[in-house]
Amino acid sequence: MSKSKHSKKSKHTKKSTSSKKTTSPKKVKSPDGWDASPTEVLRVGPGFSIDDFDRASTPGWSDGKKKAEDTLASYGKRLSELQERLFAEGRSGGSRSVLLVLQGMDTAGKGGIVRHVVGLVDPQGVQHRSFGAPTEEELAQNYLWRIRRALPEPGYLGVFDRSHYEDVLIVRVHDLVPEDVWSGRYDEINAFEAEIAAAGTTIIKVAMFVSLDEQKARLTERLDRPDKYWKFNPGDIDERLEWPRYQEAYQAILDKTSTEVAPWHVIPADHKWYARLAVSRLLLDALEGLDLGWPAADFDVEHERLRLAES
Ligand code: AMP
Ligand code: MG
Repeated sequence: MSKSKHSKKSKHTKKSTSSKKTTSPKKVKSPDGWDASPTEVLRVGPGFSIDDFDRASTPGWSDGKKKAEDTLASYGKRLSELQERLFAEGRSGGSRSVLLVLQGMDTAGKGGIVRHVVGLVDPQGVQHRSFGAPTEEELAQNYLWRIRRALPEPGYLGVFDRSHYEDVLIVRVHDLVPEDVWSGRYDEINAFEAEIAAAGTTIIKVAMFVSLDEQKARLTERLDRPDKYWKFNPGDIDERLEWPRYQEAYQAILDKTSTEVAPWHVIPADHKWYARLAVSRLLLDALEGLDLGWPAADFDVEHERLRLAES
C-alpha cells in the first residue's frame, strides 16, 4: 500500500499540496473528514524520498484549518476513553502499552503534539520522557540503556520527545561516535523495537518535517518574543547549519528502520494544525487497533451489591 503511494509520490509531492481539486470526485471521505487514512498515506514505504516531501502539504486532508481544529477536538472523547481502557487493562494484569515516538528538527512541533494531542487524555495514564544530550551516567552505558528505562509500563501511553534515533541523527551528523559504531545501530534499533513490540508495546513512530524557511520563521519568532526566549537555544542554529546532513541522516532512518512492527510515519509540519490532526488520528488508529474492552470484575458483583445495600 505505502509502496505504491510513495513510489507514485501521489500525496507528498510539491505539485499536489493540499489542493481540493486533487481529490477525485469518486473519493469518499471518512465520517471524520479524511480523504485517506493518515495511517496509510503517511506511512513510509520503500522509495520514499524526503527531498520530494512537501512540508506544507496536508496529505489525506482537504478541509482546511478550521475543520481540522474541530475534528481534533472531537477526537478527545474517544482518545480519552480508549486510553482509560488501556490503563484499566494494565491495572488488571494486561501487558500492553503504546509508545509514541516523536522525532523532528528544532521547531518541528514535537512539544505542540504533546500539549495538543497527548494533552487530550488523562495525564495519569501518560509516561512522557524527553531525551537531551546524555548525562555522564548515561554515556557510560549502551545508548539503549536510558531508553529501556523509559519504556512505558503496561497500561500506559508512553511518549518520547526525541529518542534512541538521536543516536543515529545528531550522533551521526556530528561524528560523536565513529561511523562503524553508528552504522550498526540501525539493525540494533530494529531488533530492539521488535523485542518491545513482541512484549506488548504498540509503537507509533512519527517524524515531523518543517521546511527550512518555516524553521527560520519559527526561530525568528523565538528571538522576537520575550515569551518565547525560553524555547530558544543558540545550539538550534548550529543544528540548522547542518541541515543537509540532517536530511541525509533522517532519510537513512526512514530507509532502514521503517519495519512492519514499527513503521515510520512522516508528517509535513509547516501547518501545525495538520500535524496535530494527523498525529491524533495515528494515535486513535493505534488505540482502536488494540480492540480494548473493559476488564471483567474479579469479584462477585451481586455479592458486593448485597453487602453494600446492607451496610
Ligand atoms: P531539545 O529537545 O530542544 O530540548 O534539545 C535536546 C538536544 O539534545 C537536541 O539537540 C538533541 O539532538 C540532543 N540529544 C538528544 N539525544 C542525544 C544523544 N543521544 N546524543 C547527543 N545529543 C543528543
Ligand atoms: Mg530545542
